[in-house]
Amino acid sequence: MNLAEQVKRAGVVGAGGGGFPTHVKLAAAADTVIANGAECEPLLHKDAAVMEHQAGAMVQGLQLAMAAVGATAGIVGIKEKNHHAVEAVTAACRGTTVRVHLLGDYYPAGDEYDLVHEATGRLIPPGGIPLQVGAVVCNVETFVNIAAAAAGRPVTHKTLTIAGAVRGPVTLTVPLGTSLRECLEAAGGVTVPDPVLCIGGLMMGETTDQLDRPVIKTTGGVIVLPRTHHVVERKLKPPAVQNAIGKSACDQCRYCTELCPRFLLGYAVEPHQVMRSLAFTATGADRWNEWAAMCCACGLCTLYACPEELFPKEACDQSKAELKKAGRKWSGPTTVRPHPMRDGRRVPIRALMQKLHLLAYEHPAPMSERTVAPRRIVLPLKQSAGSPGRAQVRPGERVDAGQLLGDVPEKTIGAPIHAPFAATVDEVTAAHIVLTRN
Ligand code: SF4
Ligand code: SF4
Repeated sequence: MNLAEQVKRAGVVGAGGGGFPTHVKLAAAADTVIANGAECEPLLHKDAAVMEHQAGAMVQGLQLAMAAVGATAGIVGIKEKNHHAVEAVTAACRGTTVRVHLLGDYYPAGDEYDLVHEATGRLIPPGGIPLQVGAVVCNVETFVNIAAAAAGRPVTHKTLTIAGAVRGPVTLTVPLGTSLRECLEAAGGVTVPDPVLCIGGLMMGETTDQLDRPVIKTTGGVIVLPRTHHVVERKLKPPAVQNAIGKSACDQCRYCTELCPRFLLGYAVEPHQVMRSLAFTATGADRWNEWAAMCCACGLCTLYACPEELFPKEACDQSKAELKKAGRKWSGPTTVRPHPMRDGRRVPIRALMQKLHLLAYEHPAPMSERTVAPRRIVLPLKQSAGSPGRAQVRPGERVDAGQLLGDVPEKTIGAPIHAPFAATVDEVTAAHIVLTRN
């Protein structure tokens, strides 16, 4: 069985949040494989911890991926400030053709378009993917999972950081399906009466107050904040209210565009133009929507750039949804030329954290060996991009650790789900499987 098939069977998906099934990338041909350790969401340290503690497995997975796609170059993108991770990965790279590429401490650094350009000097064509410039990019934890898959071990656990308003910020590896509530308890419990969770980070993550949501293959971290936190209040504003404020208050100052990392990299993203689709309603909306097509949803325009505290990122989200609904493909310029002011307009993480009122929550969240052993777990059958899995077990059945629980039909994009520990199947629905530890 080749590596792509092993990785497919093991259910490996993008562990950085994207959740794209990894076997698809490994079935392609490329000259460069890049490990994305650029982690830039404030307060999250999961990737730094993975690189520091599992550097050997990560580099091994990267080398296996290089062999699978025929690459001669392997690059690990790491922020220079993460000294321990840099040392561990540098040591693991010794004697291999993999090299470390150091990155500055700015946001966003983990965007694939940005990382590919930083690491190789190549610019992905508008609307394209790294493969079009000969590169395969995966999160660092994904490479650890590739190495495990090659040894016959499926993805059953997830490493994530728990930070923000908790007593002991920490990075943990927990069984998939563990509730966020149990993860918060493992971090010493929350310190605020009405907690709101930013799953995946404050900039690009999802905001929820449902503590019983399960950890899935793309959960890279959780930031807990009080409901009264200014950024949480902004994020929880209903879309109709966000749009109404944008329609009345956007003065077309262009700050959102001038600080947009994709615009600065040379792509035709201009959120101030997208905001016009709110101001002028239907007239011209089609054309303004196109200015959102290349937006990577980094959130910088909404949470950092806009002096009026409007919602250009959310306007871009709506525009992209409209473009998708209309089946519109990119028809704008195909040349990409980085802006001459790009380097000077990078947003330092510290400045971002200050703007987000996060400095009070800035504490280390070191990797802990603490075991989180939930008695009952809920495993969604869809934990990745693509189609949901179909249950392969029935209620009452006893399953072993690593056993296949849900699979995707042949020739369908998606990823199978496996049991993290020996258990009894409690419940099976079209959406999830519930296990109770034996
Ligand atoms: S920064 Fe804010 S006010 Fe200025 S153009 Fe963008 S959305 Fe409008
Ligand atoms: S979210 Fe805003 S800043 Fe980020 S890429 Fe999209 S338009 Fe640019």
